[in-house]
Amino acid sequence: MIEIIRCVSCEGFGWSEDDDGQAEDCDWCGGIGYVYRRGGRDQQIPIADLPGLSDQLEQLETERMREIGYTGEAKKPWEQAVREGKFPKPPRS
Ligand SMILES: [Zn+2]
Repeated sequence: MIEIIRCVSCEGFGWSEDDDGQAEDCDWCGGIGYVYRRGGRDQQIPIADLPGLSDQLEQLETERMREIGYTGEAKKPWEQAVREGKFPKPPRS
């Protein structure tokens, strides 16, 4: 049973600020903001899995945005990464 959980390191943001105030991709989740939890262990989600997980991630992100009181369009770390050409684009449905 594999769960997808919010990254404990960056709280789902996908990045963190270093001491100089520079935004850096989170090491724990690889900039995705979410990780697999498998048998009580967190594991980075392989980039190749992302296209198949976009619905699940979107749902988690919507929840997260609601929690922090953000009502605008969700800012999705993995979609930005796609835009930057870092991750493969999800297949069109
Ligand atoms: Zn993270």
